[in-house]
Amino acid sequence: MNQPDLSVVFPVYNEEENIPLLLREIAAALEGRGWTYEIVAVDDGSTDRSLAVLREQRARYPMLRILALAKNTGQTAALDAAWHAAQGKLIVSLDADLQNDPADIPAMITKLEESGADMVAGVRVNRRDTWSRKMQSRIGNGVRNWITGDDITDTGCSLKLVKREAIDRVRLFTGMHRFLPTLVRYAGYRVVEMPVNHRPRQFGQSKYGAMNRAFRGLADCFAVRWMGKRMLNYRVAEDGNAARE
Ligand code: UDP
Ligand code: MG
Repeated sequence: MNQPDLSVVFPVYNEEENIPLLLREIAAALEGRGWTYEIVAVDDGSTDRSLAVLREQRARYPMLRILALAKNTGQTAALDAAWHAAQGKLIVSLDADLQNDPADIPAMITKLEESGADMVAGVRVNRRDTWSRKMQSRIGNGVRNWITGDDITDTGCSLKLVKREAIDRVRLFTGMHRFLPTLVRYAGYRVVEMPVNHRPRQFGQSKYGAMNRAFRGLADCFAVRWMGKRMLNYRVAEDGNAARE
């Protein structure tokens, strides 16, 4: 297969009602734009019919590739599998629950090209979650940036577009999908932000509660800060062996 221009990737954990609608929206957003693309769906050990639904949808969407993790391993693991499987020059990730809007993808590609950056991170301007969820995010973003020394507005927004070489350099750990822009910056790449649409969850349930988000997140902040300090950040100025031959 020739390398597609774009890979659209999403993790799936019990999202059976959302999948057909999501695929239709992705195809509608990318149709007729002259880009080649693939869709990579990673089933993260769903216990509903998500995997069966994905397989059914392949007849309609031949560009759909399906990966299934052996058991539920978490959003970062599913995304990591997706990024490794993806073959596109650019990779865009989003949630499978229709809260992100695939219609934002073309503008994100334009933003990447015009800014010359390596990653475009979405900012949910009209956030459609409960008041308490929004409050948790606001505190979460503040604490994360304070500890890691970054200034990312909305790290929890899953809609992100990134060049393949930038994502290839980032090593992920459980829970670290929330720090992706910071980790990409640590690796020496440029990240810009742009406002994106956000919608309420219509089908299925959020997989997170306040507690697993807050406490695990705090430990992760310190781990990311440590990584930033210890990152191997060197350029080879001269290579004696390369000159010979
Ligand atoms: N997800 C996953 N594995 C998990 C938990 C979540 O693949 O163990 C997926 C989920 O199906 C969705 C995305 O990660 O596509 C974000 O999850 P969710 O919408 O529950 O998070 P929230 O929007 O509430 O932060
Ligand atoms: Mg969601």
